Amino acid sequence: MLPTIRFQLETDMQAEYAWIIRAWGRYSGFTPLFVETEPELTVSELGISDIRLSHFFRNTYLHGDHHAKAYFATAPVHLHAGGQTDHLSTAFYMLSCQQEYAPFEGDKYGRFAFADSWQYRFDAADKNLVAFHFDQLTKSLPLVQQKILKQDHASRLFCTHDIDTVFGAWTEQRKALLKKGRVGTLLQLMFRHITGRYDYLELEKILAIEDAYDVRSVFFWLTERGRGRNGIENADYHIDDPAIRKKMQLVSAAGGSNGLHKSALQTTYTEELERLHADGLISNRNHYLRFFMPDTWRVMEQAGVALDATLGFAEQPGFRAGYGLPYRPFDVSGRREIALTEVPLLVMDTTYRHYLKKDPATAGKEIINLLDKHRQDAVINILWHNNYFFDLAEPGWLQVYKDVLAWARDNAIRSVMPEDLIIQ
Ligand SMILES: [Zn+2]
Repeated sequence: MLPTIRFQLETDMQAEYAWIIRAWGRYSGFTPLFVETEPELTVSELGISDIRLSHFFRNTYLHGDHHAKAYFATAPVHLHAGGQTDHLSTAFYMLSCQQEYAPFEGDKYGRFAFADSWQYRFDAADKNLVAFHFDQLTKSLPLVQQKILKQDHASRLFCTHDIDTVFGAWTEQRKALLKKGRVGTLLQLMFRHITGRYDYLELEKILAIEDAYDVRSVFFWLTERGRGRNGIENADYHIDDPAIRKKMQLVSAAGGSNGLHKSALQTTYTEELERLHADGLISNRNHYLRFFMPDTWRVMEQAGVALDATLGFAEQPGFRAGYGLPYRPFDVSGRREIALTEVPLLVMDTTYRHYLKKDPATAGKEIINLLDKHRQDAVINILWHNNYFFDLAEPGWLQVYKDVLAWARDNAIRSVMPEDLIIQ
């Protein structure tokens, strides 16, 4: 049982500040109680309160201006008129993904672009800033420091694989192999293609690599085929193909888990989850990381998704909500908490290869540097697609993944599964 702390909230943003205080409590190790009388801590815009809220923040928020420029002037931090930091409002702004409620143009897939974010403007995508502001709040309040239980803040590793393609080896790799003059490998690949081998479906290899490091992982499967919105290609396999079902069983038998990779089609989560027909806790990641605030969370919540692992920028590694730990999202339009657990995505293979155009060796160094900064206070949600394990043209990507697993082992960062991350 966590110790309780009695807060009195005097603000027109009750739902908002109660939500961010609950997240702070989960992080620092206390349960907040919101009371009308006899508080231990007061939260208001008055100078005499224990936690002072910015009057300007409330006005701007209730006026419906969500753009980061309205809140963050010269740094990703919101200041009171007097110049002091308003830690609670800053954490609220970031964690609620409020910036994505302001009008934006979107990239060619309609997604909120990294280039439009405060993380880009302040070069801060790699920083766990919400955790920083929670720490600052705790440090500024002796009562909180005395009451909280000391928490184990060691980071954990959450390994995931999106299965976009199982037949793609031939189309994806032949050009690169030809260019490099590797005719022998090309012929091998051609033979496997003609004889119907599912090149990218040798999940036994992935599971064996992970087992060697005592790591378990989640495989997200597409249930829909064909081209979807914005020209996005969905699965090149049938979810009911016995070969696919066999691999899903193999994953379960190895202690892994199967989740939904929601397609970019108009089909609903409920329809796709019925077709996926996976056991246990319902987890999801959206194909191409497509995500629209707050609708995506709303429809996932309605369909009974317990854990979502989508929230990250495709173009850049780092924290899209400024936070490295799982949390319950907030619906800024509906002014309420969403009943599911969001596990922010930190690192994706495609970000380095496709968007940042790095070779495997450079990407590997940059990823380990990034992880070294987050040995504490994060769940390292890493996405490595199945095809990156079987790349004959650029085999270095497999080594990068192995290096991440070795890094986790050497730093005593243990592997976790969806069940370990759910927030009730
Ligand atoms: Zn995908």
